[in-house]
Amino acid sequence: MFDKWRKYTVVFFSVLMLCLPGFSIYAETVKHIVVIDPAHGGEDTGVLSIDKIAEKDLTLAIAFALQKEMAERGNIEVVLTRNSDKTLSGDERKKIIIKQNPALVLSLHANGGFGRNASGFELYYPGFKDVDISKKASQGSVATPKHLNDTVKLAHLVQSNLDSLFPRKGRGLREAGVPLAEGLSIPVLVVELGFVTNPDDKKKLASAKTQTLIAKALAKSIKSFF
Ligand SMILES: [Zn+2]
Repeated sequence: MFDKWRKYTVVFFSVLMLCLPGFSIYAETVKHIVVIDPAHGGEDTGVLSIDKIAEKDLTLAIAFALQKEMAERGNIEVVLTRNSDKTLSGDERKKIIIKQNPALVLSLHANGGFGRNASGFELYYPGFKDVDISKKASQGSVATPKHLNDTVKLAHLVQSNLDSLFPRKGRGLREAGVPLAEGLSIPVLVVELGFVTNPDDKKKLASAKTQTLIAKALAKSIKSFF
């Protein structure tokens, strides 16, 4: 009798030992899909600098650099809304996002305007005022939806990682309407990477070296988010 139980116990623990590494491998291989949206493209150049450097080219270059950075992180798959210089409407971008059902979306822009002196990065996240509070109140809860809280969490990570690259000068986090996020229940963060209209920012944004540094800062933020 004892021998029989001992045999069962040995078999049980042997099976357990075989399964445990499997569980830890499973934990490491849970795939997160991240959509990176290089804004503008094709006929839509976005902001142009004095020497005709286009926002659409900067966002694509930085999206490629970010995809390359993320390739080394095995459990995060990066999908771009565009891989080339093509025109893409907001609806088309949204369709790609819905199809991928990602854990988060980063939409990359470069800023322009407010004179030559405006510089630094800005982060836009959907406004909490868009949430139907009355509906939530009638359900006995006024908690904000998780994806909005997650967007703020992501925004803070991106802000602290980009801080060393661009002087903020009072810019940074901004709550605003984000058309790309409308109707979606996932974190969507718009990153305005710097001002194409500011000579120093433009020089940084157009340099391959800074593009890599920006990509590294964004990759670090995404990794910390998960
Ligand atoms: Zn833009």
